[in-house]
Amino acid sequence: MMHAMSLAGVTPLIRGTLKGNDVFFSRVSIDTRTLEPGDLYIALAGERFDGHDFIPDAVRAGACAVIAERPMELEVPLVQVENSRRALGLLAAVNREAFEGRVIAVTGSSGKTTTRSMLATVFAGAGPVVSSQGNLNNEIGAPLTLFRLSPGADFAIIELGASGLGEIAWTGSLTAPDVGIITNASEAHLSGFGSLENIVIAKGELIDAVVPGGTVVLNQDDPAFDRWRARAGNRRVLSISAEGDGNAAFHAHDIQEDADGVRFRMESGVWEPVQARIPLPGRHNVSNALLTAAAAYAQGLGPETVVAGLARMTSVAGRLEPIALRPDVTVLNDSYNANPASMSSALHTLSRMPGRRVAMLGDMAELGDDAEDRHEAVGARARELGIDLLMATGSYARAYGRGFGEPTMIADTPEMLADQLWDQLDGATSILVKGSRSAGMDRAVAHLRKRN
Ligand code: ATP
Ligand code: MG
Repeated sequence: MMHAMSLAGVTPLIRGTLKGNDVFFSRVSIDTRTLEPGDLYIALAGERFDGHDFIPDAVRAGACAVIAERPMELEVPLVQVENSRRALGLLAAVNREAFEGRVIAVTGSSGKTTTRSMLATVFAGAGPVVSSQGNLNNEIGAPLTLFRLSPGADFAIIELGASGLGEIAWTGSLTAPDVGIITNASEAHLSGFGSLENIVIAKGELIDAVVPGGTVVLNQDDPAFDRWRARAGNRRVLSISAEGDGNAAFHAHDIQEDADGVRFRMESGVWEPVQARIPLPGRHNVSNALLTAAAAYAQGLGPETVVAGLARMTSVAGRLEPIALRPDVTVLNDSYNANPASMSSALHTLSRMPGRRVAMLGDMAELGDDAEDRHEAVGARARELGIDLLMATGSYARAYGRGFGEPTMIADTPEMLADQLWDQLDGATSILVKGSRSAGMDRAVAHLRKRN
């Protein structure tokens, strides 16, 4: 629960005009279906729905006051603002400022949710944690998360995503993190940015948002590292390298990847070398773990807390989530999303799994003009990694197949792919199911479970 606020007190901070009496509120709602009596209702104009149309519902459901962009006669106090999205953000920033714990923010092209969940697990070993839920990381989701910062928590872990330039500058300024982490930059959600260079700049916006005296955590293995470090100027930077680069503040060595997860030795100039284990598949989790360790160090946590937290990690649904269909048949459900970099990393993980290796792939969305080539390159990468069978569906199924060669199986729907696989399952098999959210590859996973 957020800090209690007075409507009259916050009105100037959100650049509004108050009509009616002052009221106190400690919850904010943007959706009348989940609004509870006493909530402050903010009417947001979305693409499909306009929250202003639901103001009567909000009042009937017991809203204590309303923030809206238009003047109107209401039985409850109204704060009229020019832009209610901006008001939502500014109000969330008021709650952030009232928060006395430490705020850690994560952005990057991939691994935000995974790293956020690792941070939450590790920091829970040191005190009460509030963290983003689901994928609430945009200009609406980030404020909603900031409203959940409560007086009882010591740490807040906030995921910030972007679909264009300026978005993290805004959500980052509201979040005002004590520690800002950039996982990496790759061509994820490319179409909103136009170029990889713009993605690097957009992720870098988080650096400017870190509070004075705060810490920026950067990935030295990423080609954009030098640009981000330059952008950090005099801010304190902690770098990480999963590739064992000893110049980084935290680096990993002797990485061992197997079906149960990843082990590595973590070295740094500040802690004795420690053995760490993450019970999740995926080599990329070593980077996520080092970023987590650096943030933990910046906040005064010790290596035992980090190692114990990493060992407690559980998989995030739909992100390389291992599902045992049978003792010798494992599905790696990575249907939550996909881009060329995360495809390559997931295929690498598959290549370390036991038995016959099957890549069941759907389209990667938002790739812009050279989408065909990029799907073909993923197919070629699967071939290079020794994947045994490629199965594909969607508009780019043939492009995947061109890159991979034989044997490729193509079907019209994720369910049909699952059926085809099921009919020829024989012996130990590991199956990676992956595609962008819009490809609906979770349907293949659900279908495999149903057939089982
Ligand atoms: P979104 O933009 O949808 O919020 P995200 O950045 O939150 O994505 P995750 O959901 O954590 O990313 O992970 C998505 C996929 O990216 C994972 O399933 C995994 O395959 C891959 N991944 C996770 N961490 C990394 C990393 N550090 N580097 C590259 N790929 C990663
Ligand atoms: Mg996410």
